Amino acid sequence: MTENPVHRSYDELFVGGCWRKPATAERLTVVSPHSEEPIGHVPLAGPDDVDAAVAAARQAFDHGPWPRWDPQERMDKIEELAAIYALHLDEMSALITAEMGSPRRFSRLGQTAGAASLMHLTLAAARDFPWAERRRGVLGEVHVRRAPVGVVGAIVPWNVPQFLIMPKLIPALIAGCTVVVKPAPETPLDALWLAEMIEQIGLPEGVVSMLPGGPDAGEALVRHPGVDKIAFTGSSATGRRIAALCGEQLKRVSLELGGKSAAIILDDADVDKTVAGLKTAGLMNNGQACVAQTRILVSERRHDDVVDALAEMMSALRVGDPADEATDIGPLVARRQQHRVQDYIRCGTTEGARIVLGGQDSPAERGWYVRPTLFIDATNDMRIAREEIFGPVLTVLTYRDEDDAVRIANDSDYGLAGSVWTADAAHGLDVAARVRAGTYGINMYSLDTSAPFGGFKQSGIGREFGPEGLEEYVELQTVLCKGEMPPLSS
Ligand code: NAD
Repeated sequence: MTENPVHRSYDELFVGGCWRKPATAERLTVVSPHSEEPIGHVPLAGPDDVDAAVAAARQAFDHGPWPRWDPQERMDKIEELAAIYALHLDEMSALITAEMGSPRRFSRLGQTAGAASLMHLTLAAARDFPWAERRRGVLGEVHVRRAPVGVVGAIVPWNVPQFLIMPKLIPALIAGCTVVVKPAPETPLDALWLAEMIEQIGLPEGVVSMLPGGPDAGEALVRHPGVDKIAFTGSSATGRRIAALCGEQLKRVSLELGGKSAAIILDDADVDKTVAGLKTAGLMNNGQACVAQTRILVSERRHDDVVDALAEMMSALRVGDPADEATDIGPLVARRQQHRVQDYIRCGTTEGARIVLGGQDSPAERGWYVRPTLFIDATNDMRIAREEIFGPVLTVLTYRDEDDAVRIANDSDYGLAGSVWTADAAHGLDVAARVRAGTYGINMYSLDTSAPFGGFKQSGIGREFGPEGLEEYVELQTVLCKGEMPPLSS
């Protein structure tokens, strides 16, 4: 590994807690989305590396000692990891910015502070978690135990890489599982740095592997009969495939997938405050956020006010080097993603929507930048309103009345997040209850990393964060006893 925090390279993979030579000589080069220059390289993990990691994880799970430790002993190890992680938050967020273009101000908070808080909040949830409990059953006292689910394969995308690894790795480890993580090929450097920190806490052999790789490695992990559960975050298309493969083996699976969230602006909303809130809620992380509020629903009465205010806010956004503290919008993760978003912008105009601001041309000669773009005159059947664009693009849709607004919000294959903007918070809560989305905001949109997070409909299956996030990594075991049940050991 090299020393510059934003220029790191690795020659080995982290397999079962040790650095090992990869099975093949294939390498991944990480390219800065701003400069288009290489910033590091790592070995590309393939199916043979997955085999080695799963064999190590299987051995560590089936023969212990990790799953047999008391939860408190495992929590002590996670406390150690959290303490090491806390020493490197700023460098880690700088590295993620260099890898995938997240603006510095967002990366500090949304990438690494969020990841660190997930460690602490999962520990807090684990302290109160009913690892073993007694219930009165029909045949006498029943012992209900929450056993680790087994070997976990965790597959994550590049947009908030550490923030997505943590809600899988940490609850899985605390529950007593062994874990093979497959980070995305765009963001392998932060993952292998995390592996270095994990090495420092000295877990038993086999408990954690970190294998940066592409779809081949991911699919090898999903198909592997030695894996008991897959925890996946990524697109709904990949999620559907993973769910089908897991279904064949009746493998446990949890899925955090895409979104196309609607912000309903009611007529009594304060337009300036709403638009200030949508700056983050709609455009965080350069719009590369599954929960981004990208369909802006407004009545005919307030349409022009809202559009003017949105255009003013978006034209003031500073687009540029994500490492610059003043930057609002950095480059997209890859040229592929830049072209994809520009294609959507082109498609919006072809379908008949009108661009108020922005457009499909690139704002910079170098770097994978896209202009912040605002569409009006759009309808909810257009692709720009139905499909996840994953870039700094907002689409305004007009509703007739509140029922129509709720109907449009729900007229989506997705159900990840949403928000309502109103002077009447109590009424906002009523609107929240009518929208089929896993998380909802009233005059804001943000995640609470201690509360259940996940999607309705094609946005996923299962929940992360808090006690519900721990539940995803346990199997319930019910024990009855003829005669008196032995006392519960503390
Ligand atoms: P993606 O589905 O293409 O890839 C995600 C991960 O899956 C990567 O590690 C990739 O290498 C791996 N992968 C790809 N094909 C695979 C296969 N056949 N088998 C196993 N693994 C495979 O997603 P992406 O485009 O990189 O990421 C963006 C998507 O992630 C968006 O749809 C976004 O909404 C979603 N996302 C969801 C959440 C959430 O919590 N709901 C959070 C962040 C991102």
